[in-house]
Amino acid sequence: MPLIEYSDRGLFCARGDFYIDPWKPVPRAVITHAHSDHARPGSAHYLCHTLSEPLLRLRLGPVSCQAVAWGSPVLMNGVSVSLHPAGHVIGSSQVRVEYKGEVWVVSGDYKLENDGLSGVFEPIRCHTFITESTFGLPIYRWQPQSQVFSAVEDWIGRNRAEGLTTVLYAYSLGKAQRLIQQLSMPLFAHGAVYNVQEALRAAGVAVPPVEWITPETPKERFKGQVVIAPPSSDDSPWLRRFIPYSLGIFSGWMQVRGNVRRRNADAGFVLSDHADWDGLLTAVRATGAEQVLVTHGFQSAFSRYLVEREGLVAAELQTAYGDEEEGTAASGGAAAPTPDAGPGTTPPTLNP
Ligand SMILES: [Zn+2]
Ligand SMILES: [Zn+2]
Repeated sequence: MPLIEYSDRGLFCARGDFYIDPWKPVPRAVITHAHSDHARPGSAHYLCHTLSEPLLRLRLGPVSCQAVAWGSPVLMNGVSVSLHPAGHVIGSSQVRVEYKGEVWVVSGDYKLENDGLSGVFEPIRCHTFITESTFGLPIYRWQPQSQVFSAVEDWIGRNRAEGLTTVLYAYSLGKAQRLIQQLSMPLFAHGAVYNVQEALRAAGVAVPPVEWITPETPKERFKGQVVIAPPSSDDSPWLRRFIPYSLGIFSGWMQVRGNVRRRNADAGFVLSDHADWDGLLTAVRATGAEQVLVTHGFQSAFSRYLVEREGLVAAELQTAYGDEEEGTAASGGAAAPTPDAGPGTTPPTLNP
């Protein structure tokens, strides 16, 4: 019996009688992070990292939840379960499961670049590694975030000079905190972003202040300023109050030319909370795992690469996880590379 297996409710550890990021309600759920495709409502009991707990409660309401620090094992029916930094968003964790010397690690979502907020991805030796593969194609290679943010600041400066408001679409858990931390200027925020910010502040995370946009905030105050909004506010009446504005989006999918136009954005910046191709390979190799199971993303291509080029035992694992936080639901995992995409197309593309 494998230590962790697929079930119709989610990844299941029968020996320990718990699920990891289940997509249907279960008695015991171990949660990697608070994104809605990984942390779903209805389970009787949750286990997650200390900093995921306030976000879980914000999104799921008052749930029964045990919060643990990284590297503190919890025994479940004789199976040792511990959480380790995944570097994806605040509180995000890999789940290490050990029984009688056999070790499995479930990555959840992860990235290797240190964003200064989410903890530093920790490679964990294991026999079997269950990895995501959101960007598991070689065309996805990220620039250092410092370069991306300096391009963003230049662009904001140009908008300001033209009297335009800058609207930045950033998923409310993850990219929003990165922008708020990196942009050293006053920021306005949509309620969804503001709420996450306040939940983190209440949990003791030092997040810089942002101003919540209420119906009473006078329109004139937005001129030349910067607004952080979730991608879900696309095409909403809420957005109209910022006219004239220039719209920027942040996503790994921006690596593929054409996605900026498809989203009607004025600028697209290649920024992701997921590992790029090199990051995925580096992470897989660092585990020393002889078996790798590949979940959401380009799982078919990535697992085939691991078999053929890395000499591993690897296979696809179908799950119900998605990539909502990348903010391009339309393209999603189906964001197949277009012919004009290539490793050389990394700079942020600015429409005239
Ligand atoms: Zn996620
Ligand atoms: Zn995910």
